[in-house]
Amino acid sequence: MSTTRIEVVTIGDELLLGFTIDTNAAYLARSLASVGVHIVRRATVGDDASEIASAVGEALERTGAVITTGGLGPTSDDLTKQSIAALFGRGMHLDEEHFAWMEERWTKRFQRPLPATNRQQAMIPDGALKLENHHGSAPGIWLEDERGRWVAMLPGVPREMRGMTQDTLMPLVRARVSADTVVRSLTLRTTGIAESVLADRVESMGGGPLGVSLAYLPSIAGVDLRLTVRDLPEDEASRALSNAAERLRERLGNSIYGEDDDDLAAIVLDVCRTRNLTIGVAESCTGGLLGARLTAISGSSDVLRGGVIAYHNDVKMELLGVSDATLAAHGAVSEEVVREMAAGARRVARTNIGLAITGVAGPTGGTPTKPVGTVWIAADIDGDASSALHRMWGDRDEIRQRAAQWTLELLRLRLAAPAS
Ligand code: ATP
Repeated sequence: MSTTRIEVVTIGDELLLGFTIDTNAAYLARSLASVGVHIVRRATVGDDASEIASAVGEALERTGAVITTGGLGPTSDDLTKQSIAALFGRGMHLDEEHFAWMEERWTKRFQRPLPATNRQQAMIPDGALKLENHHGSAPGIWLEDERGRWVAMLPGVPREMRGMTQDTLMPLVRARVSADTVVRSLTLRTTGIAESVLADRVESMGGGPLGVSLAYLPSIAGVDLRLTVRDLPEDEASRALSNAAERLRERLGNSIYGEDDDDLAAIVLDVCRTRNLTIGVAESCTGGLLGARLTAISGSSDVLRGGVIAYHNDVKMELLGVSDATLAAHGAVSEEVVREMAAGARRVARTNIGLAITGVAGPTGGTPTKPVGTVWIAADIDGDASSALHRMWGDRDEIRQRAAQWTLELLRLRLAAPAS
């Protein structure tokens, strides 16, 4: 059994300055894990020829296999190719074929000649292999020396980098990887349960360890459980992951709403669609966030009919039919009001389901009895309403996002409950 070790060097002043988050390195790590490659070290350097050369040179000494992203563009701060060519003791030459392709593409698209600075993009190190770029004009470069040590240079633009990784880099890496093992992960998604409560439930599971490594990953959307297996042949890895996931599902039951990149809004919409149910929303403190979550899913219009942003009490009364007396007796952030809002959403949008949210998102507006983070949510299905009070934490944005997510979860759990 053997694994291949690779280092990644991401290049760009904007990464060092913190203006751009290094998503390229994360993407490469995930893609390469699937073919059993371990990224053992990551470095980031600025647009500086000597920094690029020393980071790549040191990485080559350690692993003999390096992937870089960034600095392949046409401007003077794009120094990757020259620096690495020099490291390999290679000169640079104009790739006539690529230059002609760029000229033709440019003229067709912009009806004017290619600017002289773009010539730089068609310069490649002697003896290098071009990696085709189907999403942009700079080719990637594969440079390998007589000892089999290699550097793959990919563009910085994430969309171009991802396309090139899948189209051209992965086959080249796979051909050089002697790994007969893979690294595989599976994520089980939960929301509305604290990390510690989840951990207690998992750890009291009994029956020995899961045989996989388990990470708890909290975010505003909820806590993800990431299961990972390393250094196993592909079929064994898949088996180990699905066995562990099955045991966690037995233990956590309906608390798991999905896997990997599943979106709770999409899951709820699917359930409603199969049961011919329609949704209307009434939102106060979230100001349309719940509607935005649902409409972000393509095809949502057959379930979501519409809604009301009822920020002012007048709108709660005039459009949603919340009663003056209820507002006066209980205040806008109350169980009574949220239930009347949900009923109003059903009536206004003429739907089976009404979802409603009213709360104090802060940072101002809290009172001793209703502090910032107090949020009432409701799901009314055909006149049968469930409501819940949450004391949410975080800043205004986090409270609003959690309120939308937990309302979707309230509906999901309602729809999953056996009919009474
Ligand atoms: P181009 O040919 O367009 O000039 P390039 O290969 O020279 O591409 P850069 O100029 O370094 O790439 O970066 C282009 C864009 O991609 C910038 O907006 C930058 O913020 C973004 N980018 C660069 N590196 C990364 C990274 N590691 N993660 C995420 N985004 C990145």
